[in-house]
Amino acid sequence: MSVENPFENSRKQLAKCAAILELDDNVHEMLRHPMREMRVSIPVRMDDGTTRVFEGFRIQYNDARGPTKGGIRFHPEEDVDTVRALAAWMTWKCAVVDIPLGGGKGGVVCNPKELSETELERLSRQYIASISHIVGPRMDIPAPDVYTNPKMMGWMMDEYSKIKGMNQPGVVTGKPLTVGGSLGRGDATARGGIYTIREAAQKLGIDMGEAKIAIQGYGNAGYYAASLAKETFGSKIVAISDSKGGVMNLEDGIDPDLARQHKLETGSVANLPNTVPVSNEELLELDVEILIPAALENVITDKNAYNIKANIVAELANGPTTPSADDILYERGVHIIPDFLCNAGGVTVSYFEMVQNFYMYYWSEVRVHTRLDRKMTEAYNSVYEAADKYNTDMRTAAYVVAIERVVLAMKDRGWI
Ligand code: GLU
Repeated sequence: MSVENPFENSRKQLAKCAAILELDDNVHEMLRHPMREMRVSIPVRMDDGTTRVFEGFRIQYNDARGPTKGGIRFHPEEDVDTVRALAAWMTWKCAVVDIPLGGGKGGVVCNPKELSETELERLSRQYIASISHIVGPRMDIPAPDVYTNPKMMGWMMDEYSKIKGMNQPGVVTGKPLTVGGSLGRGDATARGGIYTIREAAQKLGIDMGEAKIAIQGYGNAGYYAASLAKETFGSKIVAISDSKGGVMNLEDGIDPDLARQHKLETGSVANLPNTVPVSNEELLELDVEILIPAALENVITDKNAYNIKANIVAELANGPTTPSADDILYERGVHIIPDFLCNAGGVTVSYFEMVQNFYMYYWSEVRVHTRLDRKMTEAYNSVYEAADKYNTDMRTAAYVVAIERVVLAMKDRGWI
């Protein structure tokens, strides 16, 4: 997916944490490897009558703390090492917010933008069918991620339920509300991120009402981050972008809803009225208080880390900063809210969804928001305290908190 290998990067991050914790070499070695990997060929009948075979993966990284959990990405440049890294990050993510789940991830190599709705439905159903014997409500629970959505989760849940001969809503999360979804799941990733940004701004003495924000990526996470920051704090969204281009308005800011409408109508935020163009690269270097990478991996590297002007980098994307860029940003005093902390709101509400599915009793939106806020605030503060205690950067501190929890569970299971 990118020049840097995300899995190697995730291992470098782990090694840094292992050194600080003086982790036993054997334990470190166990944490460097995914527990189980499955690769499948997925034949799909296309609308024109031909059959195409897609490649798919499901990787279960570590289930010491509970069933593995993590999204499914449909992306043309998906590769196994990216899925491995994402599965590892899911493990640390669930641990850092202290929910009783391990980490996993799935991917299908495809371009969903070139598939019709019926082709997408057949692909979604075939994919879950081909991994059906390794997923389940107490085994491994997929969810939406890049280019997958609630509708597809509904199809997957339906297909799995048919295979099992009974209703199994808890097999995937991020479902539509009508079939066992949770209120508050739609904006959960962004909302969780906004809670951590609020905490960070408070620590750094930044007034959110005065803050300028630039957001790279205008999918589910990027849009809701813009809208919640503006609504909740009155922050000014000065620049946004997507894979086709970006726009900015430094003076008056951008209306998140108008931008979303424009993207729905034209396929991109590019050419939004009352803005000027900005490239994805330029956006990252704008003079703002808060920068939110909310797209893909490896966008902040040692090439541009010296030019980042934001005080806070809130990583709603998974893996946006490379290890060498991390060192530069830390030296320069930029406060990073690391990905698996910042974007843990999605999986936290997924966990709430699982709880509701098990109980067959559904919560109000207010209850979801209150509990999400509590989880995210506690997680942010434990990472902040670990950074202070070990005199290290926020990412390594997040690893310290997460790895300590995973290792304790491994000990208590007698694995080590
Ligand atoms: N795909 C999201 C993530 O990377 C959510 C995963 C989930 O809800 O299981 O955190």
